[in-house]
Amino acid sequence: MRLVHSFAAGQWIAPGPGARAIESAITGEVIAQAGNDALDVQAMRAFARDRGTVALQAMTFHDRARMLKALALYLWEHRQVLYDLSFDTGATQSDHLIDIDGGIGTMLVFASKGRREMPDSRIYIDGPPEQLSRTGQFQGQHICTPLQGVALHINAFNFPVWGMLEKLAPTLLAGMPAIIKPATATSYVTEACVRLMLDSGLLPDGALQLIAGGTGDLLDHLDCQDVVTFTGSAQTAKQLRATPNVLNSAVRFTAEQDSLNASVLGPDAVQGTPEFDLFVTEALREMTAKAGQKCTAIRRILTPSTQVDALITALRAGLSKVIVGNPRETGTDMGPLVSSSQKMDVLQKAAQIGTEAERVFGDPETFSMADDQAAFLPPMLFHCANPDAAHAVHDVEAFGPVSTVMPYNDMDHAAALLNRGKGSLVASVITRDGDVARALAMASAPFHGRLYFNNRDSMAEATGHGAPLPHMVHGGPGRAGGGEELGGVRAALHYMQRTAVQGSPDILSAITGKWTPGATEHVDKPHPFTRPFDDLTIGDTLHTPSRTVTLDDIETFANFTGDTFYAHMDHAAAAANPFFPGRVAHGYLLLSFAAGLFVQPDPGPVLANTGLDNLRFMKPVEPGDSIKVRLTVKAKTPRNDDYGEVRWHVALTNQNDEAVAEYELLTMNEY
Ligand code: NDP
Repeated sequence: MRLVHSFAAGQWIAPGPGARAIESAITGEVIAQAGNDALDVQAMRAFARDRGTVALQAMTFHDRARMLKALALYLWEHRQVLYDLSFDTGATQSDHLIDIDGGIGTMLVFASKGRREMPDSRIYIDGPPEQLSRTGQFQGQHICTPLQGVALHINAFNFPVWGMLEKLAPTLLAGMPAIIKPATATSYVTEACVRLMLDSGLLPDGALQLIAGGTGDLLDHLDCQDVVTFTGSAQTAKQLRATPNVLNSAVRFTAEQDSLNASVLGPDAVQGTPEFDLFVTEALREMTAKAGQKCTAIRRILTPSTQVDALITALRAGLSKVIVGNPRETGTDMGPLVSSSQKMDVLQKAAQIGTEAERVFGDPETFSMADDQAAFLPPMLFHCANPDAAHAVHDVEAFGPVSTVMPYNDMDHAAALLNRGKGSLVASVITRDGDVARALAMASAPFHGRLYFNNRDSMAEATGHGAPLPHMVHGGPGRAGGGEELGGVRAALHYMQRTAVQGSPDILSAITGKWTPGATEHVDKPHPFTRPFDDLTIGDTLHTPSRTVTLDDIETFANFTGDTFYAHMDHAAAAANPFFPGRVAHGYLLLSFAAGLFVQPDPGPVLANTGLDNLRFMKPVEPGDSIKVRLTVKAKTPRNDDYGEVRWHVALTNQNDEAVAEYELLTMNEY
């Protein structure tokens, strides 16, 4: 018997009063127990805040991203332990790839995004500064800072590893500690994964704790600095959301709950096209992966009425080849559901669907593995001929290998049926017709967190209807819970507070660590290109002498580059253009002259110019005008052990001090 421990305030705590038995999905035997009503959940919260928050928030985003990468690589090295345990949850080896490899991969994506898309600091800057006054001496900037409490992750049974890591990675990246509360049924796998992470020694104290079993009165003690992210049934979500303290203290509460996801066979994707076959492949995979226990699985299959028979025939042929069996055996395509009670729940929901749809594949009564104890079920396909009059097919989520085919007449009808899910995590559309895609996107995007389009052009590389990707938002409106997870850096922002900061450019620069136009310039130092990365400070500025731009310069540049656009070569044609007074200098000539003015030519700490962002040409330069440059260190980001990136703010002005061009220049500089 496996004893699933909690990890509370630095101690592993064995099951105790109120512990629940956990059965093997394969045999129905009790294999573990978890839960301890005596767990001191308030001490856990205090430990997270006093130790975890403090340690994590002393780190920068890059420090935390590096920690996530190391953690993910450690888990990858030790993943066999998790595979071995997971079979008893009913998962096959290919299900492990979704849950375990997918979870580790998700963590790696957040590690990479944290390094590439977040600053090496403790404040995230959200968008550009807003000029709030005439001269720019009073500006605004949105910033995000990590909340100072703890994130309580209450997770569903179906993905004991991915379900934890997809929330934990952005939480830690943001700088918040987490208390994980996995669903009891599969908590032994989550516990093993938490043990690995703690054993790795990579996490600061208090960053990660585990509750195996109930959460006690923890929700009664959370406040506005804590976050609850819930995944599971709509009923539990409703109950937890309504906890008086959660409402009174405005505790952030995100929910991922039931979802009647649909997939649409496009009107062009008729039998005989690659799209038809692709649709069948995707539908079969979604019905059987994780035995259909996926929040994103396809529950409703929408097809043009002309294709109903062909589609049902193809799906039945595919389902008849699915080998249901012991997930440990190679060759098994689909394992059992997580428990016999989940099996009973699915059978009951399938019976409800069966009141308004005909079952066209999969009879649980005659299913040969229908052992009362084990949790095996066959995949079950229904056909609902009149989906407009039906309710259960749109409302009842049988969280298992159950799906219903239903016909639609035209795109408006397809969209109306899609939206009968009352808010879903994902809908897919298999079509090559851009008009169909656009019509459904317009009509159904507001009802969905994700729309997945696939056809012969993308199918070799497409990631699958049911796969939430760390880069893209996962969550959905309405019935799906109204929550949002993943989505790249957005996911970390759910654990942070966005604050509008207003003040002078110097104050904003001091807060953000980034130079804001109008802030103090440090001009009395040697040329910034002669000073290594570490010697540069934000606001270091070079003002160049001016250079007059002649007609000869313009013609030489035009003939040399081949850019003889009329605005540079033909006075009358240029003057007829609303933007130009007559012949003007090329924008790229101005950039080249700017470089000529600010560059220090000798070998030195500047290794390379790696790019240029946010370029704007504001005023044309005519022959005889002169330009000068202000070059200012705006931000610095270490990249590796040898060099870091310097972001320079570059402003070109003319002889009247009018802005001519502005951009940000990126260089790599030696330390
Ligand atoms: P539940 O809603 O029963 O449980 C979800 C989580 O909430 C579990 O960790 C559970 O813990 C916990 N929980 C339940 N009651 C409380 C409580 N009073 N206080 C604190 N935590 C609590 O969902 P299941 O995991 O059993 O899944 C059931 C249904 O949820 C599925 O049939 C499906 O409809 C839906 N689901 C939706 C998913 C999605 O992402 N949209 C994913 C998975 C499931 P414990 O296990 O200890 O009771």
